[in-house]
Amino acid sequence: MSDVIDLLIVGGGINGAGVAADASGRGLSVLLCEQGDLASATSSASSKLIHGGLRYLEHWHFRLVHEALVEREVLLRKAPHLIQPQRFILPHRPHLRPKWLIRTGLFLYDHLAKRGQLPTSRALPLLANANNPLQDSLDYGFQYFDCKVDDARLVVANAMQARQQGATILTRTRCQTAHRQDGLWHVVLEDINSGMRHQYRAKALLNTCGPWAQSFIEKRLKLNSPRHIRLIKGSHFIVKKLYSGEQAYLLQNDDQRIVFVIPFCGDFTLVGTTDTEYKGDPSAAAMDSNEEGYLLEVINACFTRQLSRRDILWRYAGVRPLCDDESAKASAISRDYTLELEVGDDGSAPLLSVFGGKITTYRKLAETVLAQLKPFLPEMAPDWTADALLPGGDISGDIGGSGTEAYAQWLHTQMNNYPWLPSTLLSRLGRAYGSQLSEVLGEARDMADMGPCFGADLYQREVEYLLEKEWACSGEDILWRRSKLGLYFAASQVEALDTFVGELTQARLR
Ligand SMILES: Cc1cc2nc3c(=O)[nH]c(=O)nc-3n(C[C@H](O)[C@H](O)[C@H](O)COP(=O)(O)OP(=O)(O)OC[C@H]3O[C@@H](n4cnc5c(N)ncnc54)[C@H](O)[C@@H]3O)c2cc1C
Repeated sequence: MSDVIDLLIVGGGINGAGVAADASGRGLSVLLCEQGDLASATSSASSKLIHGGLRYLEHWHFRLVHEALVEREVLLRKAPHLIQPQRFILPHRPHLRPKWLIRTGLFLYDHLAKRGQLPTSRALPLLANANNPLQDSLDYGFQYFDCKVDDARLVVANAMQARQQGATILTRTRCQTAHRQDGLWHVVLEDINSGMRHQYRAKALLNTCGPWAQSFIEKRLKLNSPRHIRLIKGSHFIVKKLYSGEQAYLLQNDDQRIVFVIPFCGDFTLVGTTDTEYKGDPSAAAMDSNEEGYLLEVINACFTRQLSRRDILWRYAGVRPLCDDESAKASAISRDYTLELEVGDDGSAPLLSVFGGKITTYRKLAETVLAQLKPFLPEMAPDWTADALLPGGDISGDIGGSGTEAYAQWLHTQMNNYPWLPSTLLSRLGRAYGSQLSEVLGEARDMADMGPCFGADLYQREVEYLLEKEWACSGEDILWRRSKLGLYFAASQVEALDTFVGELTQARLR
């Protein structure tokens, strides 16, 4: 990297990683620092949907929904291994929203943007039979389509693309301070593990600190924040598969909110989310007992099978950093993003801060960020990401083909290429790594070559790949972000994995 970096990005969630991928592909020199693991904050705590946001239509956020629906198609093509179409059933509850209102909403949802890969919505009688897990009173509904995503792996895929294009990605590295001097940013980064500090100079600074965006400006840069953000906590829980079938549900609740119920990692069901004001350290956010009770009540009012707190296997919470538009209700604050540009006295050394946003719109956000930075970095190449595959997405060699169909065909070919891989393991690895599967498997020719198994179907070869190529540094990074195998691991297996990761990391440092 040359002495002065073009763009220094603080924050390795989806927005930071997305901008790093876009900017480095335009020929800019880029450094991204992340104080924890990639996607360790909001970007691994989402509802894991690439969606327009049907309910935002009720708040008249048409532009946001349109942009998100356009992106849904783009992302489905860019990463067909990480993003899949998801069928939703929306049971009708006459006292909450009339049928005509839902029909109108779905009509708009179908037509606000061009749809190449997802079917249209339709009304649906919900017949009382063994395949219908809902209570008999919910006898009518609607079907529509959105997409689900592996949020944490989408972040890693963007970071990998950035690295392939020459960007430097430093995890476990905090931006301690930064100040302007002689038309440049002078930035101090601290390695969290060693405490070592290094100085960098950059032409432009990007603040993608998510829920820390405001405090980063005030505490680390000692500047006034142009925006105030409200932290709104959203929590989810995971239970054993609640019903058979691959459909998800969008449940309407009496408080006018909605709750998602989504098939998760084959054997589980994901339930969420909540909307509660949050004060305090975003990294300490956790689901509380009220949120748990609230979600259980919604489920038990709609499904035949009744759940209790004992059924909950895993909980996670994230904090939405939403620009304060003074709405009284947390659920009514816009999910749109806001960019704020601030420059030094001589008109150079821009600071661009990102407030709010959605995973769904990260790519578009990155384009907008770079358009705003263009006057300061005029040598950057034009927009390019809409038609480019993410690492692992190269499964048909053709971005114009249907992502879903191409993925199914590709997986079939892999079964022939690796007949020795058990089909469940191949399915998981295919979804996680896409066309990078061959890199993960390396020279392995049979299961013995995969090395010892740590539990579930996690073998040493995959662990080594994650440590070497995907910035994983701990058992937690591997079990809860690069994969969700933590759902299957016993405490003793976690311990064995942690020991192995610790030893390998130490050996590398020597
Ligand atoms: C409950 C919930 C559900 C959601 N569901 C969806 C959904 O289904 N679909 C969708 O599209 N969107 C969804 N969203 C929104 C989406 O998750 C967020 O908009 C997105 O993840 C924000 O990404 P980010 O990169 O801005 O922030 P983050 O992912 O929070 O990343 C910010 C990063 O900055 C790092 N950082 C902070 N300070 C420093 C520093 N000084 N030095 C170095 N690093 C620093 C943090 O460690 C953090 O990793 C949801 C959000 C929540 C909370």
